[in-house]
Amino acid sequence: MATIAVAALVAGLAGSAAAPAPYTFIEGKVPAGVQPDGNSIMFEGPKDMLVIDTGRHPEHTDKIIAVAKAKNKPITAIINTHWHLDHATGNARIRAAYPGARLYASTAVEGALKGFLARNVDQARARLDDPAVPEPQKADTRLYLAAINDPANLIPDQPVRAAMPVKLGGRTLQLHLASHAATEGDVWVHDPASKTVFVGDLVVIPLPFFDTGCAEGWRRALADIDQLDFQTLVPGHGLPMDHAAFSSYRQAFDAFTACADSNQATASCVATWMQQGAAFVAMHPDPKYTEAALAYYVDQVLRVPAKRAEYCAK
Ligand SMILES: [Zn+2]
Repeated sequence: MATIAVAALVAGLAGSAAAPAPYTFIEGKVPAGVQPDGNSIMFEGPKDMLVIDTGRHPEHTDKIIAVAKAKNKPITAIINTHWHLDHATGNARIRAAYPGARLYASTAVEGALKGFLARNVDQARARLDDPAVPEPQKADTRLYLAAINDPANLIPDQPVRAAMPVKLGGRTLQLHLASHAATEGDVWVHDPASKTVFVGDLVVIPLPFFDTGCAEGWRRALADIDQLDFQTLVPGHGLPMDHAAFSSYRQAFDAFTACADSNQATASCVATWMQQGAAFVAMHPDPKYTEAALAYYVDQVLRVPAKRAEYCAK
């Protein structure tokens, strides 16, 4: 039943032709055998455009540039919800086309460039030299190395250190900062005029990605979002949902992470998300993928003291 409810909500959103969304939604794809792209959103002002998240692959970023070219308006501002490279690699490509674009993001990327992102450099170079590695994976590896070797296009010139407004023509977007949630600093965006929130990977279909996440801070961020007056929430991956669907996502998140914090068996925590988050699990073609990822996050991230120490507030 829950599956049908959420599917209907998504269909209802897509079909609401009476009041078209004031933004362009560019869905991030998850191609087989390579890394994903996050979703992107573009806002159009009278003279210029703003984009939230820029994808990883040139194919995704080029869709963003094509929208700006078709409207004949430059992209003057980029907002990164977080530094994960499926959301920020495209910054450089956007700025190559529109050199004046300002970059709004949290400063968490500075730590990530010295920590999480620096850790895999040797492995990545070895992958490029390994004849057994397929070319699409090598292409992803080259994108990763190019991105971390170009920190000026990842580190914000407009750092988001607290809630702040960003204006585009007559529209004011409210930027919010969540500390120690999906990353050390997640920016989420509220457009009061259209009653829409853009939350990056604070919400991901079919399951939250805990690679750099802290459950406690993340639960606080979802509670803050839930208090706002909005009708539509755009996640970092997957299709937009309405407020009721988000509230059910939040409940499943709270139950899953409470289980991970307890002594319950991993399988019971996995079952908690598979049941309470069933509507979101059903949006991915392979439930086994979701089950395996949930078990990995419980055992390899959420219950590892060193990871908690690294990703949660000191
Ligand atoms: Zn992502």
